[in-house]
Amino acid sequence: DGQVTLRSAAIRDLASSLRGAVLVSGHAGYDQARQVWNGMFDRHPALIVQCASTSDVMRAVSFAREHELLTAIRCGGHSLSGKSTCDGGIVIDLSSMQSVRVDPNALTARVEGGTLLRHLDRETRAFGLVTTAGTVSHTGVGGLTLGGGFGRVARRFGLACDNVRAVDVVTADGKLVTADAVQNPDLLWAVRGGGGNFGVVTSFEFQLHPMDATVLGGRIAWPYAQIRDVLEFYAEFSARAPDELNCDPAILPGGPDGKGMVVVETCWSADKNAGERVLQPLRALGKPLFDQIGAKSYVALQSQSDEANAFGRRFYGKSGFLGELRQADIDTLIEVSASTVPAGVALVMQQGGGAIGRAPIDSAAFANRNARYWTMVAKGWTDPSEDARHIGNVRMAWKQVEPRTDGFYVNAMADDEFKRVAGNYGSNYPRLAKIKRRYDPGNLFRLNANILPA
Ligand code: FAD
Repeated sequence: DGQVTLRSAAIRDLASSLRGAVLVSGHAGYDQARQVWNGMFDRHPALIVQCASTSDVMRAVSFAREHELLTAIRCGGHSLSGKSTCDGGIVIDLSSMQSVRVDPNALTARVEGGTLLRHLDRETRAFGLVTTAGTVSHTGVGGLTLGGGFGRVARRFGLACDNVRAVDVVTADGKLVTADAVQNPDLLWAVRGGGGNFGVVTSFEFQLHPMDATVLGGRIAWPYAQIRDVLEFYAEFSARAPDELNCDPAILPGGPDGKGMVVVETCWSADKNAGERVLQPLRALGKPLFDQIGAKSYVALQSQSDEANAFGRRFYGKSGFLGELRQADIDTLIEVSASTVPAGVALVMQQGGGAIGRAPIDSAAFANRNARYWTMVAKGWTDPSEDARHIGNVRMAWKQVEPRTDGFYVNAMADDEFKRVAGNYGSNYPRLAKIKRRYDPGNLFRLNANILPA
């Protein structure tokens, strides 16, 4: 019909004006390009614009606005709630824009908006430098950084977003805006935790930090029977840990008796002898199933969980922040895990605190600074006929854990939490809403933890 004809002519015009490609249904590559990390989101966008440059992004954003298309932005595609794709709209796909340029003298890296964490780590480590990235190397720099960015060195160097010094952003009007400490500082503040609400970030400038070639890290695990001892010890140990140590616990299915196991994943990023001393009490605890802690390349550590988190599987998780890990929290985690871990559900945690918690609440949009831990109940699977069962198990477990939490991580929202966004940003929300009004008054960029224009 008329509309479709008009659309295809418009799409042809768009395609001929780009360096990159436009993919629509039926094109070779369309089905691959529309896949995202969470296999639950099998969406069919009307078009996928594979941007090759900033000018492509400017064209794609203007096209989306002019045609009033539902607009998704895609970097690594790891949005847990499938926000980097959509049905019937446009996907602004940045995954061809992955250049990383390190300036070893200025201690900065210029990183394009579609880069994956593994590229960032690889390039910075070549100079003995690092900035905070997440724990699975095929995750995108874009989404991870814009929502916060926890990782193995975040307690030492701050969240990924805390290390952003400047950004280039294509805003809803299709124009490029540079934001740094001097120009448009409000926009810089907003993208440091405010997600993809303000435009498409075509490039980030990160602060880098010197770090040894190898770190002391890896996993140590105990049988589920020792869970109480491990969690009680962990609560004390992690609360007193130096910034140079990150240790993330998890209660995972498996173990010799099928009841599960308790794993603590460690990364000590400073002097090895000091690290051996700091980690010794953890390693002396109980009777571990295995202890893989040792000197390792940081890049190797950063990819050790890649396969366990492979692209394309179905996934459902509910999560939130914990201020402290108190006795009552431990009791709940034990009670919940006893029934759900044998059914295949995992309870994972990521440590906060350190430099993350010392930054003032208004230093960046990211607002959950008081959280010492982030906790998630999650399940991954492949067979769609099992959706209801696994989602049900996660929700049942989360019902017990949720009352213990305070706030949630915008980068880890399940589909049904979007109404709670304003409360989660707390005192930072009014400022975010004003900045949103300035840069995206029509809320073109709403497939995210959405901030409504003031
Ligand atoms: P995408 O799905 O590509 O993007 C997610 C959203 O971010 C988009 O919808 C868009 O709104 C926005 N966005 C992305 N790029 C841009 C851009 N250039 N400009 C504007 N907006 C953009 N989080 C942590 O903090 N630490 C971890 O260790 C960690 N580990 C994870 C491991 C796995 C396996 C997964 C699936 C997630 C993990 N996360 C972690 C959560 C992660 O931060 C979010 O899923 C994040 O959104 C992923 O970013 P992405 O670029 O891969 O995702």
